[in-house]
Amino acid sequence: MSENAGEKKIEDLPGVGPATADKLREAGYEDLMAIAVASPKDLSEATDIGEGIAIKIIQAARREADVGGFETGDVLLDRRKQIGHLTSGSKALDELLGGGFETQSITEMYGEFGSGKTQIAHQLCVNVQRAKSENGLGGHALYIDTENTFRPERIIQMAEGLGMDQTEVLSKIHVARAYNSNHQTMLVEKAAEVAKEFPIRLIVVDSLTAHFRAEYVGRGTLADRQQKLNKHMHDLLRIGGLNNAVIAVTNQVSVKPDAFFGDPTRPIGGHIVGHTATFRMYLRKSKGGKRIARLIDSPHLPEGEAVFSVLEQGITD
Ligand code: ADP
Ligand code: MG
Repeated sequence: MSENAGEKKIEDLPGVGPATADKLREAGYEDLMAIAVASPKDLSEATDIGEGIAIKIIQAARREADVGGFETGDVLLDRRKQIGHLTSGSKALDELLGGGFETQSITEMYGEFGSGKTQIAHQLCVNVQRAKSENGLGGHALYIDTENTFRPERIIQMAEGLGMDQTEVLSKIHVARAYNSNHQTMLVEKAAEVAKEFPIRLIVVDSLTAHFRAEYVGRGTLADRQQKLNKHMHDLLRIGGLNNAVIAVTNQVSVKPDAFFGDPTRPIGGHIVGHTATFRMYLRKSKGGKRIARLIDSPHLPEGEAVFSVLEQGITD
């Protein structure tokens, strides 16, 4: 995801012809970065090329890959100072998160079907457009929809709930449907382009894990899935950092009927998702249409719970 449009492809590496490039891609080495950080042994096994050649390919990839760079502490501090907060619509939920959804971080919402994840994601798309004084970020939203659950009609209800112009609100939400996990990861690169044209201050991925979960079944595929999810989340973090945007992702819980392998309310995606998300919230239904959000494993906020409601006009306390 380089800013440089002329970024090299893996075919451009010396010793990589079309056949080897295909094998590399099939094995999950889709860009220079993936090759640059690979081990010669793994690369050689995946592509039937000798380890000596693999070493040369990796070295060339390291020279070409956009590995990022070092930034001085004052630049980092400056960026940290810009961190903003986006309201969910519920004061209790915002307080739980230390003042709302934080920019430059990933906030993960996980929970059962119907627990309110998509509702909050929709509400954020509306709220992000509001002024800072209204706890918005004065920007546009980008929505990667993997489950085909984005509903403009729902946005209209929420915009009306806040007295906002519905056409204008809809025009500031950029939605793409992701058809599989590869497509989903490619859309993040597209998102970087959209962010050059519009002030994107919120990126939603709803759901982060559904495609990965459906496509990578069986034990042998787990490492591959985790590697791709990891890269996907780091790509998201990078655009979130560059654009000072909120990243909100949704996740399901693994419902294991025999619960032998642990808690049936555990989020899927394992440690990768857990470690890359800065905030993890577990959502569940409660009595009388209320929902409960619980903050899990936050590095600098106390664990706690917040009660909120999903009404026709949107998320409230
Ligand atoms: P998920 O966690 O699976 O993404 P959703 O966020 O889609 O779940 O939540 C769906 C629930 O949101 C519905 O069961 C309903 O309770 C509530 N909901 C959806 N639309 C409305 C609406 N227009 N008015 C009130 N509640 C709604
Ligand atoms: Mg949903």
